[in-house]
Amino acid sequence: MKTGEIREAFLAYFDSNGHQRVPSSSLVPADDPTLLFTNAGMNQFKDVFLGAESRPYNRAVSAQRCVRAGGKHNDLENVGYTARHHTFFEMLGNFSFGDYFKREAIRFAWEFLTVNLGLPKEKLWVTVHISDDEAEKIWIEEIGFPAERISRLDEDNFWQMGDTGPCGPSSEVFYDHGEHVPGGPPGSPDDDLDRYIEIWNLVFMQYNRSADGEMTPLPKPSVDTGMGLERIAAILQGVHSNYEIDLFQALIKSAAEVVGTEEYAASSLRVIADHIRSTAFLVIDGVLPGNEGRSYVLRRIMRRAIRHGNKLGADSLFFYKLVATLVAQMGDFYPELSEQQSRIEDVIRGEEEQFARTLEQGMGILNEALAAMDGDVIPGDVVFKLYDTYGFPVDLTNDIARERNFSLDMPGYEAAMQAQRERSKEGGGFTVDYNSTLTLDGETTFTGYDQITGSGKVVALLRD
Ligand code: ATP
Ligand code: MG
Ligand code: MG
Ligand code: MG
Repeated sequence: MKTGEIREAFLAYFDSNGHQRVPSSSLVPADDPTLLFTNAGMNQFKDVFLGAESRPYNRAVSAQRCVRAGGKHNDLENVGYTARHHTFFEMLGNFSFGDYFKREAIRFAWEFLTVNLGLPKEKLWVTVHISDDEAEKIWIEEIGFPAERISRLDEDNFWQMGDTGPCGPSSEVFYDHGEHVPGGPPGSPDDDLDRYIEIWNLVFMQYNRSADGEMTPLPKPSVDTGMGLERIAAILQGVHSNYEIDLFQALIKSAAEVVGTEEYAASSLRVIADHIRSTAFLVIDGVLPGNEGRSYVLRRIMRRAIRHGNKLGADSLFFYKLVATLVAQMGDFYPELSEQQSRIEDVIRGEEEQFARTLEQGMGILNEALAAMDGDVIPGDVVFKLYDTYGFPVDLTNDIARERNFSLDMPGYEAAMQAQRERSKEGGGFTVDYNSTLTLDGETTFTGYDQITGSGKVVALLRD
């Protein structure tokens, strides 16, 4: 089954079980200052769970676009390294607003996975919250699920959208990708190694957590579930990693073409393929690269992707060229992607041009610093200079450092940043627009960059 077909199978199954199809909401949460980006299907229903809003339906189903690149759920650093994490992904979810509870939620999930999708039962594992005997009993006695494949966990089975808001114990379904992949079952010390991959989280929404940590019961117990579309697609397509599914293979192939490499297994290609999705969908939802808040997160994502392309040898602007492939892959379900294609391309191209002007110089500074170093910690003032003068977000520097087994002197960086703030305060409240430090004079046109390898020196070829 193609990824798009799986999405539709999910929506259709819950639709036929009395759930209202609700479109994905924007990645920029409406009126929710507690949340950086939409990170789960339940976000748009937060007030319904809290009893502050009512809807003409009490069961819903959606395929929600999500970004986890900051805030409570942040997977940015995982991308390229794990088989299962993206910054942008689609979360398939069914919801009950005071209608059904644990029993039906578990039954629906079981039926959809084992009957509709035909997953082999013996490959599935289940987790249940340590306090939740009721859910375990339903799995064992009503579903007939073997007790030896159920683990009772604590934090991993308690879901919360952020530091405040609706939350509750959960029960999760995992899939065993088989002995050829290292890793242990959920709850074991090496459960993070991607052999047993979490596919579906069934949250039994019962509380509202307030800022002081207090939990008050919700007006009506409810259900919120989330299954990663790309993870279930990997299983159904017989591959281990999300990055091997149809959609990602198409993006990776295009990425390889536009950067001019044949190293299809390079982690940088996975990063680029991942980041084009978060970039394009954030732009669709009104975020533009910039220096604050959401805009800065987008800039970091874009610059990271561009740097990875550069690493693979890209010698001209490339990132914007991937929008066409994304449109071909996802434009059917997201018509806004096709409609806004040229706008998205322009935004990306602009950022690529701006960053290209300083990327090589910044890499040169970093390489020099690395070559001159005794230890394995990059000094804070270097990290700050890269940020301040060359537009290298700290996590970009960290990304490069990590590849070479260096770490960053974060306290030193913070101190340099603080000193900068003090200086701008003394200057009469004038704050630096970091963006302007990245822009060269308007006469300069970027025509390409080249890397002189071997000498360890990188030069920027900025030609008039
Ligand atoms: P993990 O433990 O693998 O990081 P999670 O427990 O953080 O996942 P949940 O918050 O429970 O994830 O989200 C529900 C579902 O969304 C997960 O079971 C998974 O299928 C999917 N999912 C979560 N994070 C990601 C991600 N970064 N990329 C792709 N799918 C994801
Ligand atoms: Mg996670
Ligand atoms: Mg988890
Ligand atoms: Mg989970």
